[in-house]
Amino acid sequence: MNARTMTSRPPLCIQMHEADNVAIVANDGGLPAGTTLPAGVTLVDAVPQAHKVALQDIAQGGVVRRYNVPIGYAIRAIPAGSWVHEKLLDMPDARSLEGLPIATVKPAALPPLTGYTFEGYRNADGSVGTRNILAITETVQCVAGVTEFAVQRIKAELLPKYPNVNDVVALAHTYGCGVAIDAPDAVIPIRTLRNISLNPNFGGEVMVVSLGCEKLQPERLLPPGSIPLVDERTQADTPLDVVCLQDEAHVGFMSMVDSVMRQAERHLQRLNQRRREPVPASELVVGVQCGGSDAFSGVTANPAVGFCTDLLVRAGATVMFSEVTEVRDGIDQLTARASTPEVAEAMIREMAWYDAYLQRGRVDRSANTTPGNKKGGLSNIVEKAMGSIVKSGSSPITGVISPGEKLQQKGLIYAATPASDFICGTLQVAAGMNLHVFTTGRGTPYGLAEVPVIKVATRDDLARRWHDLMDVNAGTIATGEKTIEDVGWEMFHLMLEVASGRKKTWAEHWKLRNALVLFNPAPVT
Ligand code: CA
Repeated sequence: MNARTMTSRPPLCIQMHEADNVAIVANDGGLPAGTTLPAGVTLVDAVPQAHKVALQDIAQGGVVRRYNVPIGYAIRAIPAGSWVHEKLLDMPDARSLEGLPIATVKPAALPPLTGYTFEGYRNADGSVGTRNILAITETVQCVAGVTEFAVQRIKAELLPKYPNVNDVVALAHTYGCGVAIDAPDAVIPIRTLRNISLNPNFGGEVMVVSLGCEKLQPERLLPPGSIPLVDERTQADTPLDVVCLQDEAHVGFMSMVDSVMRQAERHLQRLNQRRREPVPASELVVGVQCGGSDAFSGVTANPAVGFCTDLLVRAGATVMFSEVTEVRDGIDQLTARASTPEVAEAMIREMAWYDAYLQRGRVDRSANTTPGNKKGGLSNIVEKAMGSIVKSGSSPITGVISPGEKLQQKGLIYAATPASDFICGTLQVAAGMNLHVFTTGRGTPYGLAEVPVIKVATRDDLARRWHDLMDVNAGTIATGEKTIEDVGWEMFHLMLEVASGRKKTWAEHWKLRNALVLFNPAPVT
């Protein structure tokens, strides 16, 4: 490490719990060997930013403790002041799913938070959109090229006539054919696609582009009764709006494109009638997740998200947290916080299902961590999980949904999903989120076409370099300029602005759109 990259700030270390025997170095560029920390320990190694330093001598086999949790066991003796990196640690086994504490913690009810509103689009089914988007559902990947061609023309030729519609989006995916559609787990991708079509940001206007010969036929994707009525007078007996490319009426490519455009215009006309109206903050449905995490994630951004989660729950809103492999090592904390034994049992069921799913591929939750995570100071999945789980705040967990299911209740919900950023985001879109909050330490330019994404940087340095990609800088918590509460409130206010359409996120500004990626645990053929 080059001395010129060292910050001029005094040495800064963050210890998460008084029982911890490691702390992380907060200074940009890390700290050189020989630095004496405020705690009195002198570094024997250079320690990179976000990496751990031993605050005391740790014997061979001794516990390395962060967040007051054993994150590993020392492979050899680690003297005080040493850099404690992943190669020095043996990872603890996963917590057994037997004998967990069930609904034992009863957090004191926080006072309701009233008076906060945003400007949203009310839907016939009672949900509220934060954007007014025409989404075109696809039954199968085969139609993606034609649909995208039509979407480009709709945007150029039709959208300007309907100024109250924000966007037109093709819901492209890789499912629909060449898959074992009757396998038990196929229910996951199918219901995911169905529920994405019904996301509140699409106003109940469902139109489908189908090939014709695919396994996922339109009526299997959206059976009668699955679409809430937009308008009882016009929609009552109206069949599903499907453009079928193999229809004999289509002669030539342009006739397909014209069909898609003609049908799209009918929906644009209705969507254009929608207006924003003041709605209580309780109509927010926020999906939280992290990606490109580092050791700051659990110190700055995720605790601030956790504080904001509690604000949202107090306001009567819905918050989903997800990412099975990133909460698996904290399952005991979650089952203890479940509001009822049924909620705890549902969480255990989701974890057991995922354990078995990983086992089929001969891996376990340790397959989660990335080279970037490790470079960012996260030694293993236990340490990563402890930092990830704090996004859920401190409220009781009142519900659990399985991958691809749609939310049926408000409050703090565990939405079981893989931790993969794209798959987690896709499943949260299906669950009905109307706002997404995404924390990152290494940095990812993630964005979605369907739902606004607020991105939160865990470090000052990232927020500075990616000044036109990150919406919130939680790095100010590590430097002491702001508190977790300050940044949590900042996020809360920003959410209301973004939800109201008064402010665009950076991902919206640049139109950064990651693909929808389905979770398909069933076989392909
Ligand atoms: Ca993730």
